[in-house]
Amino acid sequence: MEILLILSIVIGIIILHQPFTEWINKVRVKAQYQKFLSQETWYHSVVAPHFRYYNRLSLADQRKFLFRTFLFHKAKRFHYIEVTQSAEMPILISAVAVQLTFGLDKFMLNYFRDIFVLKDDYHYGFYSRPFQGHVDHSGIYLSWDNFVKGIHGLTANCNVGLHEMGHALTYVNFITQTEEDKHFKKEFKNFSKVARPIFEDMQQGGKNILGDYAGTNYHEFWAVSVELFFENPIRMRHELPTLYNALSRLLKQDPIVVVNNHKLAA
Ligand SMILES: [Zn+2]
Repeated sequence: MEILLILSIVIGIIILHQPFTEWINKVRVKAQYQKFLSQETWYHSVVAPHFRYYNRLSLADQRKFLFRTFLFHKAKRFHYIEVTQSAEMPILISAVAVQLTFGLDKFMLNYFRDIFVLKDDYHYGFYSRPFQGHVDHSGIYLSWDNFVKGIHGLTANCNVGLHEMGHALTYVNFITQTEEDKHFKKEFKNFSKVARPIFEDMQQGGKNILGDYAGTNYHEFWAVSVELFFENPIRMRHELPTLYNALSRLLKQDPIVVVNNHKLAA
């Protein structure tokens, strides 16, 4: 009798297990959303002055953008190296990641717990050229001076935040495989069908709007393409239309359409 009872409890737990964890997740998200609502105005006041991208979104998408930014921010540990820390910094860095993944289901870049913020260009490893940022197994590294220039559009076609988040996105999908976005992984093959020939042409000395650095290797080609897609979409679509369209399908968003929607609404 006892055995039957234990057996039925075990079977019950197995059957209940899936809905139970789903329920726990729902409760957790709800609790986080309540916390977020009490801070939404603060997040808006930090993001709105710096992100044209955010200001062009509908009100519903702005809320989704800020909630994702909040979740990303709370999940990471930020480290500040020789730079004066401010409360805005982690929010702006989180917002850049959210911009890149806004069309995707998975947006936490969850392999990375640590984000390192440095003051300006720095040296790393045995490389002779200075770095503005990089991504490796230990975390995401960004130089604050360059990050700010990037989000304000002060350096043509460059946005180091988007560049490094681009590396981080392929890292979690293909290297650690810790946060696989089904659509992104599947569509990346189609993206590469278009992108690889353009990259190979660059390796043969071909020039295009992406610039020489994108020809270094395919990782850099990808990260630079991401920067241009958001920073200079109209020119990119004009000069490399197949690449622009492939990126738009891959990231499930189109920065030009967002601009046009905004103009129509204004
Ligand atoms: Zn890079």
